[in-house]
Amino acid sequence: MKMIELKKSDPEVYNAIVEEIKRERDTIVLIASENYASRAVIEAQGSVFTNKYAEGYPGKRYYGGCEYADVVESLAISRAEELFSAEHVNVQPHSGTQANMAVYFSVLKPGDKILGLSLSHGGHLSHGVQVNFSGMIYKTYFYGVDKKTGLIDYEKVRKLAKRHKPKMLLAGASAYSRIIDFKTLSDIAKEVNAYFLADIAHIAGLIATGNHPSPVPYADFVTTTTHKTLRGPRGGMIMCRAEYAKAIDKMVFPGLQGGPLMHVIAAKAVAFKEAMTAEFKHYQLQIIKNAKELSEALVKRGFKIISGGTDTHLMLIDLTDKNITGKDAETALDLAGITVNKNSIPHDTLPATITSGIRIGTPIVTNRKMKEPEMVVVADLISKVLDNPQDISVISHIREKIKALCKKFPVYEDVEI
Ligand SMILES: *Cc1c(COP(=O)(O)O)cnc(C)c1O
Repeated sequence: MKMIELKKSDPEVYNAIVEEIKRERDTIVLIASENYASRAVIEAQGSVFTNKYAEGYPGKRYYGGCEYADVVESLAISRAEELFSAEHVNVQPHSGTQANMAVYFSVLKPGDKILGLSLSHGGHLSHGVQVNFSGMIYKTYFYGVDKKTGLIDYEKVRKLAKRHKPKMLLAGASAYSRIIDFKTLSDIAKEVNAYFLADIAHIAGLIATGNHPSPVPYADFVTTTTHKTLRGPRGGMIMCRAEYAKAIDKMVFPGLQGGPLMHVIAAKAVAFKEAMTAEFKHYQLQIIKNAKELSEALVKRGFKIISGGTDTHLMLIDLTDKNITGKDAETALDLAGITVNKNSIPHDTLPATITSGIRIGTPIVTNRKMKEPEMVVVADLISKVLDNPQDISVISHIREKIKALCKKFPVYEDVEI
């Protein structure tokens, strides 16, 4: 990845890439939905496959010269099928949102009812939020988490499903730290004769390695991104029962997309191979151990975690008692070299642009080989920043500590810039 040509021809873009590499090296990134892909994944994604039109599917293309495109897409499909024990896989969706769109369009009609987890309780935009296509096209209903426990109240989901009779029940979240009971949700879907879609965008890596129960045995459709815990290139994927295979493939192409991003599909294949290794399994387990350690260390320092802790790679911190908004916490931590995102908490009284919480995840720090002792250090630094968000000298002192910590856990070291 020595960018010789780019450096000469386009210094503005080249410099931005160099600065981004430095940012990723020198800051502690705790964004739960991000990860650092391997150099092999990035090399495949930066390959000449970006040149190739391959509309269609392996063996059934609308363009000549697809023999090698067929190789990488077939590898991606068979590896994903093995990794998740899925009956059918489509690796072409450009993103998680487009994967969900293809599932909806394959079996729903405009105006049909869908029931999913509310965005403000940890759900995702593409699960029926008004400003998203899903909320514009479908009649949407939401379930939430219990105010006291912070957990999904499955009996309430059942009641809502019986009352509204949705055509599709959605599971999956972007900011829910506990195990999701896919089996119970699939039972509820069956009771009301609804399709069941499990969106595992965040937890796909945990599921692939047996660190979170899989919805694949229960769900009609499973969608995911490939760039979160799964640590692949930015993109989406759909898994489904064999009976829906044709409908899904037809809806992805020609229904919603033209040519697939073959360079990304090549990188997906690489990531799926990595995900089958013992190293990856160990990595995913450590992500959870680190998240648990970090949440316990934060609780010890007086932070309130929604649901009290985590079973996964992430946690949602309620800052209400800390006298700081999510927005201000994000800004102060950013100055100290700790990257997080502000996030609404369930029953938040502040708007989504301000919020009373932050979301924190451990996929990237774990990828850098940090373990439990470093999580205690990180919790301590977070706590010091949030106790002194305006104090420039405290923040610059912590910035130096973060830089030193990053040096001890190098990443993308072999990238020449
Ligand atoms: C991240 C996420 C998505 C969407 O991913 P994009 O690739 O950003 O479109 C969908 N569903 C859930 C639950 C997510 O967390």
